[in-house]
Amino acid sequence: MKYISTQKKAMSPFDREPGQIKASYTAHHVIEAIGQRLTKPLTFMEVCGTHTVSIFRSGIRSVLPPDLSLISGPGCPVCVTDQGEIDCAINLLDMPDITMATYGDMLRVPGTRGSLSERKSEGKDVRLITSAAQALSIAEDNPEREIVFLAVGFETTAPATAATILEAAEKNITNFSILVYHKQTPPVLEQLVKDPDLKINGFILPGHVSVILGHKAYRFLADHYGVPCAIAGFEPMDILLAIADLVFQHSNGESALHSLYPRAVRPEGNQKALDLISKVFTPCSARWRGLGLIPSSGYALKEEFAAFDALLRFGITIPTPKPPAGCCCGDVLAGHITPLKCPLFAAACTPMTPVGPCMVSSEGSCSAYYKYNRGGASPWKRSPSATEAADD
Ligand code: SF4
Repeated sequence: MKYISTQKKAMSPFDREPGQIKASYTAHHVIEAIGQRLTKPLTFMEVCGTHTVSIFRSGIRSVLPPDLSLISGPGCPVCVTDQGEIDCAINLLDMPDITMATYGDMLRVPGTRGSLSERKSEGKDVRLITSAAQALSIAEDNPEREIVFLAVGFETTAPATAATILEAAEKNITNFSILVYHKQTPPVLEQLVKDPDLKINGFILPGHVSVILGHKAYRFLADHYGVPCAIAGFEPMDILLAIADLVFQHSNGESALHSLYPRAVRPEGNQKALDLISKVFTPCSARWRGLGLIPSSGYALKEEFAAFDALLRFGITIPTPKPPAGCCCGDVLAGHITPLKCPLFAAACTPMTPVGPCMVSSEGSCSAYYKYNRGGASPWKRSPSATEAADD
């Protein structure tokens, strides 16, 4: 990589080719260049919850021009877990000899009958795990019980679940099954980009999902829908560079997919992980919290692995309950409103008393707003148009 001296002030990041903005620029340089090239109000969506938190923590919003708005998207795996999916897990726990294993924040996500954490405190066997392999170990150590792994996450965690299924099949473990709540990122982005009420002028795409998927899976956003996209890492500078790239694309009248995270993302993605996914799963419709049923946005176990499907094994289905009164999780996840507009925010819904999953997860936008921007009394200098775009 050729580094450009930050002393040469005349050389702005926008003198470079799109997608070639170098990380050797200072944040000040990049912010200045964004301001110079922004010619109209723009709204970008940071798809990933980790980006949302990094943006808040680093104060990126406060240094952007008033006409540049960032909205948070549906990229937190806990937040998009549907209430019915939680209800289904709780119904399963009511059956005899069931042990449920899942990742941290899932325990606190409320369904209509409470949360897994509440069931645990009532004596149900709910285990906190940090890997899919751990769930399988619990099954091997407890042959007298039925171990159900509640698997959530996007393309980043699905390969590990697939590898665990393959291992369970090879070892012929018969007391292990999975509630597959994994979700796919591109289909939900397509739903958002087709939404006539949502004007997204660019996507800041998640670096870790892109490590698995590579570039191809997102190209339709730029090629078919004409929306500029930038894959970003998770450091504040990574995000600033992605924002700069999107502004650059707009000012040049371009729409392309650029990777600002080439140190981690290969254009072809991670073939080994993709092979694991395609060996074990097939795409299926999935229900997203507040966003409804999205075609081909989930993963179903292939027929040869049906023995590990908890829904089939226990003859249960995922219910479709009504969301809690006043809950706006769907509008928040779709970027229609900021959490500040939800009537329950910081009142009935807080991190201690979450009504929706967006307040539970450390990556959730409601939780991020609660931590970093609770009052909504922003010191940021915003023009009326930008304020409207951000807060409506
Ligand atoms: S404040 Fe609570 S109820 Fe409202 S959108 Fe956020 S998580 Fe959902």
